[in-house]
Amino acid sequence: MDHQNETLFKTFLESTHNGLVLKVESLSFLIFAAGDDYLQMTGLHRDDIVGKDIADLPFSLFHPSTRLVLAGVLQHKQKATLTPYFLMPAGDRHRVYVSVTISPVLNDGGEVAFLIYTVIDIDTYMRKAEEKVNRNYFMQLIDQAPVGICILRGKELVVESANNMMLELLDKSAAILNLPLRIALPELEDQPFLKLLDDVYTWGEPLVGNESKVLLVRNSKLETAYFNFVYQPLKDGRGVTTGIMMVAAEVTALVRVKQQLEESVANFKSVVMNAHYALLVVKGKDWMVEIANQPMLNLWDKNKEEVLGRPLMKILPELVGQPFPEHLRRVTDSGKSYAINEEVFYYNTPAGIKKKYVSFFYDPILDSEGNVKGVIVGAEDITNSVETRLKIERAEEMLRIAIESANLGTWHYDPASKRLTVSPRLKELFGYKPNEEMNYNSVMAQVTEEYRYMLLKAIQSSVSQGEHFNLEFSIKGNFDKKLRWMRATGRIYRDNEGVPIRFSGILMEITEHKLDEIRKNDFIAMVSHELKTPLTSLKAYVQLLGFKAKQSGDMFTINSLTKVEGQVNKMNNMIRSFLDLSRLEAGKLNLEKERFPIDKLVMEVVDEVLLTDKSHQILYTACKPLEVYADREKIGQVINNLLSNAIKYSAPGTKVKLGCELKSGMVQVWVSDEGVGISRKDSEKLFSRFYRVENTPLKTVSGFGIGLYLSAEIIQRHNGNIWVESEEGKGSTFYFNLPDEEP
Ligand code: ADP
Repeated sequence: MDHQNETLFKTFLESTHNGLVLKVESLSFLIFAAGDDYLQMTGLHRDDIVGKDIADLPFSLFHPSTRLVLAGVLQHKQKATLTPYFLMPAGDRHRVYVSVTISPVLNDGGEVAFLIYTVIDIDTYMRKAEEKVNRNYFMQLIDQAPVGICILRGKELVVESANNMMLELLDKSAAILNLPLRIALPELEDQPFLKLLDDVYTWGEPLVGNESKVLLVRNSKLETAYFNFVYQPLKDGRGVTTGIMMVAAEVTALVRVKQQLEESVANFKSVVMNAHYALLVVKGKDWMVEIANQPMLNLWDKNKEEVLGRPLMKILPELVGQPFPEHLRRVTDSGKSYAINEEVFYYNTPAGIKKKYVSFFYDPILDSEGNVKGVIVGAEDITNSVETRLKIERAEEMLRIAIESANLGTWHYDPASKRLTVSPRLKELFGYKPNEEMNYNSVMAQVTEEYRYMLLKAIQSSVSQGEHFNLEFSIKGNFDKKLRWMRATGRIYRDNEGVPIRFSGILMEITEHKLDEIRKNDFIAMVSHELKTPLTSLKAYVQLLGFKAKQSGDMFTINSLTKVEGQVNKMNNMIRSFLDLSRLEAGKLNLEKERFPIDKLVMEVVDEVLLTDKSHQILYTACKPLEVYADREKIGQVINNLLSNAIKYSAPGTKVKLGCELKSGMVQVWVSDEGVGISRKDSEKLFSRFYRVENTPLKTVSGFGIGLYLSAEIIQRHNGNIWVESEEGKGSTFYFNLPDEEP
């Protein structure tokens, strides 16, 4: 080769060839030319190496068997390739994975004159080759992938490519290509993904994310989406990360369904947990307790730890032999709900076996195929209401026994339908046979005439005013027509709106008692009558003697006889009271009404009382002339009684005042004292027969407890009212009034 050709050849080699051209001289391989790429790869300089033997070059640039192969090529005059190895350049350059080929160049004599030492960077070579072959196919595949795929390049994560799905998921156009990710998707700025990608890039480790929440601008607004993703680092031949492949699949709908499911499970749980009635969810064959709310724990007297996640029969072994496992089994087997209203539930406690009354329902929990997965048990502790009911039942039973043993009759009357329901005993009392019908009208017809109106009025006022009803009356037996005395008591029962629904009570026979009373009354009447005649003549003689004494001027006798007359009057009043009482009881107290001035009557009574009593200051407020139409004698009796009581029940020397006036069209008389007074409790009963206040200051005061009873009866028969206003220890004022009736 002439010099010119040699220079041309060298220059060509140097610019195109990646390797060395070795000149073979005897046993040495002198460097004839070195390619630019090779120098670049190894960091050597041309001037330093040309003309030198390759054995002078750094060992690390060569495969350990290079020399051997060179010798082989020389001998066999054939091309050889070394197994790939890592070429270690000098300085801080990257090692390069290379393949070396050595080809012989023969001279005219057929001897090896040159060796072409070619170095191939496998990574670059492969990539280029692969890129050529695969790129189209791969991109096609990626584009059609049902998941979003994109390639991010460099530390800046420039969006190199993104398939359709990825653009769709991000709601972006191809305009984001070639933009760094943080600019393509500015909304990622405050989210963890850029940092995660950066970590993947730095550490070269892939990252997998599941159902990660991402905020993305889609449809021009920030939306929450959920993704499963993989960040796969892309590395070059030297293992250096040069990019990231991001694969993402949207799972928002799935997550939402899951969330809804979780929500509805949570809702269900919270409904169960917050329910006022006891709820329990058991699952599986051994009825494992999945949920038990507080009321259920209370019912069992257990705490959460003892119950949750444990089989029911282990929690409550005492259920064996009780009906509940049977109910549960029935629901599990049939898949049908079941409910029981009242069941006794026995349970163990440290203090022994206890008992509760419970109402239950059992509902199966079915899966989508209709198989029973578990059971919801609802329970209500009805112990209190059942015990109350049992108590009422016991009380009713006792009442029934009491009524039966006291031989009482019972009755119910419905005011709306006028239907009367009576017990067999009541029928018997009215003289009916057990199978005979008895109605309201027939009962009323049996009541004797003098009481019929009273009974009707009492029933009416009880119904309209809700008063208790307590009345004695006589009836005629249905068959025997015998007179019997009855006492009926009862009351009205109303519904929540106050409408009377039932009027009921009891009836007892008091004939014996009543006949006794009548006999007693007759006796009192007879005695009073017998006493009255001698007393009348006694009074006449006293008056005669008094008249005589006045003539003779014997003062002592006059005074004595005045006192005697007063006492006779008192006795007379007493006897008259007894007579009136017996007349009243027998219904024979008749009024003889006349028109008279009541102011005069008051004065007369005062004068009469003054005859015997000088111990008190009796202050009479003179009335204006006032006329009434009434029984003069009986009204006088009433005033006398009130005045005598005022004196009797107050200390000597105190004041007793009385007066009369016209008030609201009624004539009103009042008597007030400064005596012992009357308690509220007593003042209600004061006007009843034989009632006397029982307390120490009054023990010594004599009386029969009939004065006020008679007074009240007399005033009521005049259609007037009598009442008392009193304060204990301070005194009382008794009032009565009479209507201004025309004769
Ligand atoms: P008695 O014959 O006992 O006085 P009354 O029927 O007149 O019978 O009175 C009944 C009771 O009322 C008396 O026993 C007395 O306790 C009480 N009472 C009547 N008037 C007065 C009064 N002015 N002050 C206090 N208590 C009175």
